[in-house]
Amino acid sequence: TKSVTLKSVTKTFIDDQNKFVHAVSDVNLVIKQGEFATLLGPSGCGKTTTLRMVAGFEEISTGDIFFGEENVNKISPNKRDCTMVFQSYALFPHMTVFENVAYGLKIKKLPKEEIERKVDDIFAIMNLTEHKTRMPSQLSGGQQQRVALARALVMEPGVLLFDEPLSNLDAKLRLLMRDEIRRLQKRLGITAIYVTHDQSEAMSMSDKVIVMNKGKIEQIGTPQEIYQRPKTKFVADFIGTANFINGKISKVTEDELFIQTEDSVLKAIRHGDFSVDDAIQMVVRPEAIHLLEEESGEIKGKVVKSVFMGQTQDYEVEYNGVNLQVTVHNPMGERIYQVGEIVSLHFPRESLHVI
Ligand code: ADP
Ligand code: MG
Repeated sequence: TKSVTLKSVTKTFIDDQNKFVHAVSDVNLVIKQGEFATLLGPSGCGKTTTLRMVAGFEEISTGDIFFGEENVNKISPNKRDCTMVFQSYALFPHMTVFENVAYGLKIKKLPKEEIERKVDDIFAIMNLTEHKTRMPSQLSGGQQQRVALARALVMEPGVLLFDEPLSNLDAKLRLLMRDEIRRLQKRLGITAIYVTHDQSEAMSMSDKVIVMNKGKIEQIGTPQEIYQRPKTKFVADFIGTANFINGKISKVTEDELFIQTEDSVLKAIRHGDFSVDDAIQMVVRPEAIHLLEEESGEIKGKVVKSVFMGQTQDYEVEYNGVNLQVTVHNPMGERIYQVGEIVSLHFPRESLHVI
């Protein structure tokens, strides 16, 4: 298994009107051995292009890609130590499940017994043994995708690449496959680069999330870092639900920021450099805001929406002309506020993230 490094990697296409398309701009990235890294971003942001450059299917315009210490810029896709799993399973329809999975090893001219042993091993790990002699058309979509995964894993690649492999599956199966991919990747210790536009997929599977926007990296971090400490408005907005509150820094201490808003002063934990009078935005997640009875606090808001969701009660609370999304868990014991009620808002120090 190998680390993957991208240094100032750029890809410029020329479209059918002879215009330049800057699909990927100056991407710098290190994915460690055995790490599960996900490229996350909206459609068209350059995820697939980045992945295809790693695989060697797409030539890079400028920059360098390394597998371990080795520069692979000039190495053809079939000689690179990586395998890609696609959204369309791309199984050979005229071959059995066994033949499909054995195919790559046959091309590599491995002895017959070794091929059989490796394929049987992977089938055992993935509980596919009973489907061995079936044709792809006799399998469900989920089973076909698992065969496609087995076909990639059996090659024991140094790097495993995935391009939205679960998009064609129904919601329930997607959840199961997330766990299965994650389990196999960890068990085999393979470095994985996974592409998705689905933030919950990225959050639940990854060691490291790389958020992309318009061909550039916006932020790299663990799922927690990306969610709790988004660096940009784009990241805050793209991952989960974000409330934004405008303010001005009124005081800076070693570990705290005091922020003057329209009607109050809020405290936040300081991450990074800020100066007094900086105009800033705070990101607050819906579940981090506390709602209290009107008389309990100084910061007031008005409930404009109150929806019972089962696990949560979801509110919209008007505060200084902004509608804040507020989620309260377990409404069973909680007081439920009705539309029109005035409530006090409490923003715990940890809940306010300044960008
Ligand atoms: P994503 O996978 O994040 O949806 P892509 O990497 O497929 O994004 O595409 C990034 C940008 O590059 C898009 O604007 C897309 O239209 C453009 N693009 C991708 N492939 C080509 C190509 N072969 N020729 C011209 N433009 C392309
Ligand atoms: Mg894509």
